[in-house]
Amino acid sequence: MQPLPWPAEDMNRRLLTWYGRVGRDLPWRRTRDPYRIWLSEIMLQQTGVVAVIPYYERFLKAFPDVAALAAAPLDQVLELWAGLGYYRRARFLHEATRRVMSEHGGRFPEQLAAIMALPGIGRSTAGAIVSIAFDRKGPILDGNVRRVLCRLLAITGDPRSGKVEKQLWQLAEILTPEDRPHDYAQAIMDLGATVCTPRRPDCAACPLSGLCQAFWQGLQEQLPQRSVRKTVPLVRQVALLIGHQGRYLVRKRPLDGMLGGLWEFPSATVPEGEQPEDTARSLLSGEGLSAVFEARGEVRHAYSHFRVELFLFTCEGSGAGRVADEETRWLLPSELAEWPLHGSHKKALTLILGRE
Ligand code: SF4
Repeated sequence: MQPLPWPAEDMNRRLLTWYGRVGRDLPWRRTRDPYRIWLSEIMLQQTGVVAVIPYYERFLKAFPDVAALAAAPLDQVLELWAGLGYYRRARFLHEATRRVMSEHGGRFPEQLAAIMALPGIGRSTAGAIVSIAFDRKGPILDGNVRRVLCRLLAITGDPRSGKVEKQLWQLAEILTPEDRPHDYAQAIMDLGATVCTPRRPDCAACPLSGLCQAFWQGLQEQLPQRSVRKTVPLVRQVALLIGHQGRYLVRKRPLDGMLGGLWEFPSATVPEGEQPEDTARSLLSGEGLSAVFEARGEVRHAYSHFRVELFLFTCEGSGAGRVADEETRWLLPSELAEWPLHGSHKKALTLILGRE
């Protein structure tokens, strides 16, 4: 790697002075509790600060520490996560608290390797926890830091490619100071979130503009280079809202699969060349019902790796003989509104029953 064009201490000094003046006051910044910092880092992975704050506060009210979360049933955890999306984060978080209880005696580990061994915690999140909770050097390379570093050193190439990724980690390692890593981690993340933003970075307000190679070359809008987007496949599915005495049938998805542990109305994928009505009819007979069903429109939803077009059908079916158990429930619309349905089925609920 090329040597830095300026001393790392110079960058740190500018950044920390700026952070001391304008750093954001956020709920997870008022604590050094690793559990709370970990929770905030996981919630912030795919979601913005403003959306995260109420979830973070509600979650901590229900599960104030590792032991409380580890002891909670997964359904309750998913219920409190509902709306944040990317539910794998909640499942891993829950599983990781159980590991902290069983393998670390309930005490959150302090070493980077031990933290990274917990489910759902990658290198950057582990670095953030080490830096912010324990004030020890833990390099971070989340989306904000990645963007700042690419611009600061005018790094070209796809930032997700192996070569550039390696270079960025080396830089993160060099630039993270031994002294005040707690403040550094928050300062560089703040800079990316509030000044060095993806579009129209506010270079005039940036404490690093004097060092920034992208700024001096007028490349700040072009870097980081955009990754080539893969085409996201579209899946066609049908969902049946089977009603009985004002309640609707929902099922829990298997824990080990996609969207595991979340709930949905009975559904099926529409085979290539088949009409959604035909798939709905087969689904209905698979449920042991021959009721008349009605097409009720469709909703679209994007998951992380695919998009779904969900065709909705309603029908009245008998609940007799269909015993509610751990995996199957008959719920009132008011209960469904609070239930951890996954994204497209939440939209289905809103469309058909007018509920959030
Ligand atoms: S000068 Fe502009 S492009 Fe460079 S780090 Fe600051 S905000 Fe980002």
